[in-house]
Order: sequence, then structure tokens, then C-alpha cells
Amino acid sequence: MKPMGKAVALLVVLVLMLGVVGTGLAADKGRIIHVSREHKVFAIGESSTPIAKARPGDILVIETEDCFDNQIQSSEDVIESIDFNRVNPATGPIYIEGAEPGDTLVVDILSIEVADRGVMVAIPGMGVLPDEVQTPTTRVLPIVGNKIIWDENLSLPIRPMVGVIGVTPKGDPIPCGSPGDHGGNMDTAEIGAGCRVNLPVNVEGAMLHIGDCHARQADGEVCVSGVECRAVVTVRVDVKKNTGLERPYLEKDNRIMFLGSHEDLYTAAQIAVRDAVRYLMKVKNLSFEEAYLLASAMVEVRISQLVDPLLTIRAEIDQSLLY
Ligand code: CA
Ligand code: ZN
Repeated sequence: MKPMGKAVALLVVLVLMLGVVGTGLAADKGRIIHVSREHKVFAIGESSTPIAKARPGDILVIETEDCFDNQIQSSEDVIESIDFNRVNPATGPIYIEGAEPGDTLVVDILSIEVADRGVMVAIPGMGVLPDEVQTPTTRVLPIVGNKIIWDENLSLPIRPMVGVIGVTPKGDPIPCGSPGDHGGNMDTAEIGAGCRVNLPVNVEGAMLHIGDCHARQADGEVCVSGVECRAVVTVRVDVKKNTGLERPYLEKDNRIMFLGSHEDLYTAAQIAVRDAVRYLMKVKNLSFEEAYLLASAMVEVRISQLVDPLLTIRAEIDQSLLY
């Protein structure tokens, strides 16, 4: 190699300086954007107006309202006394720059900070045992540290999760209380910190909305409510281009989980299992039949919730078994 001429050396210095400037811009790219819980929607559709804009790489700190819009303050506030037009609010929608139909909106749940109390309700006619609820019953549960205080003898560790996370659906507007191919009220306990939620983009900007956090909820959500609470959800957003994704799926630790929502539980299971089998076909280069066999040996079919307008099943693959 011959020694650099002066002009070349100057050029190198300039490029290095530009490099430093470039790094500064890159650091600026992941902005932190706060979104107040005052900006909420009860349904989401193509006419919904964005209340904030974010770019891929940005971190959003999103305040969420509880699913009763904070109308329940004590055990005296039974469900008949609240305005049902105000249930299941979600904060948003947030326009994600660069997200276009056919893309995937990637939402990494970084943390969920729950309020210091949660609310549960039992409502005659609702939940898995609807005819057996005689008396509308409300519990307001203190959350102290990492514990939900049930009574003096029983407390449960918190396991914070997001109930509603979605984008604008295809077609007619959908109430935030319903799940579907757009995400929405999936009430899936796995959607906690460390979970990556992948959602199909149907409109320009995707229109992310998040709400309905639970300090804790078991699979099934059998009585119709989790431990419903206000929260602050911190997420990072990203966009994957031209994926053609049709339905939500989750990634957490080594697991990938395909979600199917339908009014019929069996059909919901078919939707989730079909997506899991297609995934196995793709990553292992298998025929449908081979992947179907493999699925029966390793895809865990689980119930996310049994109580929303559509029921949600998830089909889980432990990817450490595949490689
Ligand atoms: Ca919910
Ligand atoms: Zn909820």
C-alpha cells in the first residue's frame, strides 16, 4: 500500500467526522414519546384520527385507562351503575411512519407498570358460568409492591399484561372490546414484558392502540375480568416491510405463539393451529402432512380467553426443539 496523499487523508478525516455526526443522528432515532391516557378510543376504524406519530425505533411510554374507564372506585360500584358505552378504552391510535398495508408492525413490550389497585367484577350472564352468578359483585384489590392483596390470608404475585393491543382492522370499525385479526382485546396473559407482538398492518400508519392492562389474569379469564388496572406501558415499535402477515403472533423467550380469535372456540383453534403448521412447513421445509404430524408432537394449543365477543386460542411452538 502506498502512503496516503494529503487530500486523501483530509477526506478520511471528513468521513470519520461525518461518521460521528451520523452516530449522533442514530442515537436520536430512538426517541421517547409519552402518550397520555386522555387520548383514548372505544372503537377503531379507518376514520380514527391519530393522536401521536412515531417512527420505527421509537420508544412509546403509553398511559392506559382500566377497562371500566376508571368508573369503579369501590366495591359499592356494581356493574349496573357504570356507563357501558365507556368500557374497554384503548390509548391511541398512534400513527407509525413507514407502516403500510402488507407490512408487520412489531411492538416490543419493554415494561408494564401497574397502578396501586385493581378491579374485578362478576356479572350475571357473563363469563364461563354465566347462569350461576346471582349477585353482581365488585372487588377493589390493593396492589402493594409486587402483590395483589386478596385478603389478610391470600395475596397473589402480579403478572402484568396488556389486554388490548391492535391496529386498524380491515373493513368496518371494531369496538376495542373485541379481538380479531387486527389484534384488539386478545386478553392473552403472555403479552407482558419481554413479549414481541407482531400485528398485520391494514392501513397507512398502522394506528397502534393499547389498553386494558391486567395486574394478573389466568388463561381463560373465566369470570370475564382480569385484575383490571390503570398502567403505564413502555414499548418499542418497528416495522417489517412486505411480510403479508394475516394475523397476530407473539414471540417470547424461545417461543412463538400464533393467535386465532373466533366466536367458535374450535374454529379459533383451527385458525391458530393452521398458522403454526404453516410456520413449521416454512422453517423446516416440510409438506403439510409432515408439518401436521410434527405439530401434533410439539405445538401446544392453549386457551387465552373464553369470555370476549370472539374467543382466543394460541398455538405455541418451543423453538428450542426445532434447532
Ligand atoms: Ca379485556
Ligand atoms: Zn381487561
